[in-house]
Amino acid sequence: MYYGFDMGGTKIELAVFDNDLNQIWQKRLPTPKEDYQLLLNIFKTLTDEADALFNCQGKIGVGVPGIVNHQQGTVFTTNVPAAQYKPLIKDLTEKLGRPVKVENDANCFALSEAWDKEFIQYPTVLGLILGTGVGGGFVINGKVLSGKNGIAGEIGHMNLTLEANKILGDRVPQIVCGCGKTGCFETYLSGPGFERLYFSYTGENVSAVDIIQRYHQGEQDAILHVERYMNVLAMYLGNIVTIFDPDLLVIGGGLSQFDEIYRLLPEILPRHLYSIAELPAIEKARHGDSGGSRGAAFLQLGG
Ligand SMILES: [Zn+2]
Repeated sequence: MYYGFDMGGTKIELAVFDNDLNQIWQKRLPTPKEDYQLLLNIFKTLTDEADALFNCQGKIGVGVPGIVNHQQGTVFTTNVPAAQYKPLIKDLTEKLGRPVKVENDANCFALSEAWDKEFIQYPTVLGLILGTGVGGGFVINGKVLSGKNGIAGEIGHMNLTLEANKILGDRVPQIVCGCGKTGCFETYLSGPGFERLYFSYTGENVSAVDIIQRYHQGEQDAILHVERYMNVLAMYLGNIVTIFDPDLLVIGGGLSQFDEIYRLLPEILPRHLYSIAELPAIEKARHGDSGGSRGAAFLQLGG
């Protein structure tokens, strides 16, 4: 059995998977705001309940909304103040009486997709989230690449390039990102970034859903906007694919529902790649919102 915890700002979810990787149980409890011991107790309560229910000691992985420093065993997570800078890996390992792996939730998303029944054929997977923010994760032969500082896959915080500046022109908004830098791709390619760019060129405050509807209705501003957005996205992915050269690019988050991405990206991406490069498979995420706990459960897979 594999136990996957998704530690969010409001809920801690445990999902249990059998040895065929099918989810068989799930439970959520509220996340304690400030009290770290209370937070650890929630993990213990849910683990004890699952152990008793399935008469086993499941292998445990935890997805967190933040950066995991594997050298120190600590987490940096502003969304869960109770766990901020705490030695979560050591404390959970002691409390739950078994090895516990902890990873960034975007890495868990990528891992969840990499272990999908159809996607398992791809040895290297780039998971990209285009949602409230932009994040990602690299999976190599079923294992997450964390990196020295746990920041591998924090691809939303790469900085706008000369080429992107050319595409966006002089109306490109200068935005300070949540990470403190200006010009992070996240501020242009996330859902809010998609809306921000539309506003910047049209002066209209319109939701992403409405912009997409206008695009499908053939409105010129929306068509130009999607073209501009897709060009920046393709240029950005061209850089990342050049570094990692994945077999599969799988896209999640709210904007992943915009199906034009899967039609336009294969057309535009080759312009931003080495000429001999074949494109990776480009797919929409299969496991959506369950990615956090599902991927966390699979942290113990793959040796
Ligand atoms: Zn940033």
